[in-house]
Amino acid sequence: MNEKTMKLTVLGATGSIGASTADVMLRHPDKFKAYALVGHRNSQRMLALAHQLNPEVVVMTDAGSAAELKGKLPAGVELQSGMDAAIAAASDSSVDMVMAAMVGSAGLPAALAAVYAGKRVGLANKECLVTAGRIFMQAAKEYDAVVVPVDSEHAAVHQALAGHDHDSITRIILTASGGPFRDRDPASLVNVTPEEAIAHPNWNMGAKISVDSATMMNKALELIEARWLFDMPADKLSAIIHPQSIVHAMVEYRDGSVLAQLAEQDMRSPIAYALQTGERLEAGIPWLDLAKTGRLDFQAVDIARFPAMRLVQDVMRGGDSLAISLNAANEVANQAFRDRKIGFMDIVTTVEAVLLRVENVPVDSLEAVWSYDREARVLAQEMMIL
Ligand code: MG
Repeated sequence: MNEKTMKLTVLGATGSIGASTADVMLRHPDKFKAYALVGHRNSQRMLALAHQLNPEVVVMTDAGSAAELKGKLPAGVELQSGMDAAIAAASDSSVDMVMAAMVGSAGLPAALAAVYAGKRVGLANKECLVTAGRIFMQAAKEYDAVVVPVDSEHAAVHQALAGHDHDSITRIILTASGGPFRDRDPASLVNVTPEEAIAHPNWNMGAKISVDSATMMNKALELIEARWLFDMPADKLSAIIHPQSIVHAMVEYRDGSVLAQLAEQDMRSPIAYALQTGERLEAGIPWLDLAKTGRLDFQAVDIARFPAMRLVQDVMRGGDSLAISLNAANEVANQAFRDRKIGFMDIVTTVEAVLLRVENVPVDSLEAVWSYDREARVLAQEMMIL
């Protein structure tokens, strides 16, 4: 192993970000070595990955799924289970970088452990910043961790910001595809089905995030993330609809110059960006053919159609408890919509009703994060029964 080899722990290795990360790593075996692969329950996928990447450690956070792998891993690979093992794998002294791609708020403790250990952290988990942005970024500063976003929009901003003075930024604009309902009559949205909401025009994603994309709650969460990642006030953060999803974000400077980042829709591109520390990596991305794309359209976000985008402005201006509650209430309402218990427009209405009931305060401990999270989930359930 040469001294330039980067040792990685991949949290959420068996998910789609994990698959794209493995793809980029396998293209550069001289540059990357897996220390630990961490998954939850998908033992079959983990088995395949362990043979491809030959890590030192495999962790399944679910003990039963770990048991399924007993005796099946390549020789010399250590098998562990549980969240404590995931946290240890994220903070091991031999690890240079941690890809934080676990799903949901379950991903927070291990990602935070990587930050406390001063690692380079590729952040694909939204909840880390949405629910604990203040704690997360403060810890990164204190423990010299480098947080690199692994989300197409935030990776785009990160690139457009490089080498520029923070005070000279006037606006950060994230693009949004607008989801499947961007041109639909808002009055007809009450009747849409989960199937219609999940059929995303541009990206192939999981059901929860597809519904978040249809309500634009996904963009609301991304704006909150951007607030913390780039230390920006709410009035400098906005979103614009861009149906082609080729421009991922734009940064505007005081002198009127706007830097945009363009790329094909392929998560290997922001992952390769996060994995490099100087020299850009080939990532198997098809060359962008703008002549073929033909045109790049932009339109303002219609607040009547996407009330989540109105809510988020208040949430970003308010205390952290509001962002935690927005995220938790949305998870509950999103699931209820997919279970056909509430209508599509009820998702954001439920979230708004919860936000009116919760405290509006800054949050600086994980205990308080969990407590506001639980309270918002209970409130959301109550609102949906009424
Ligand atoms: Mg995104």
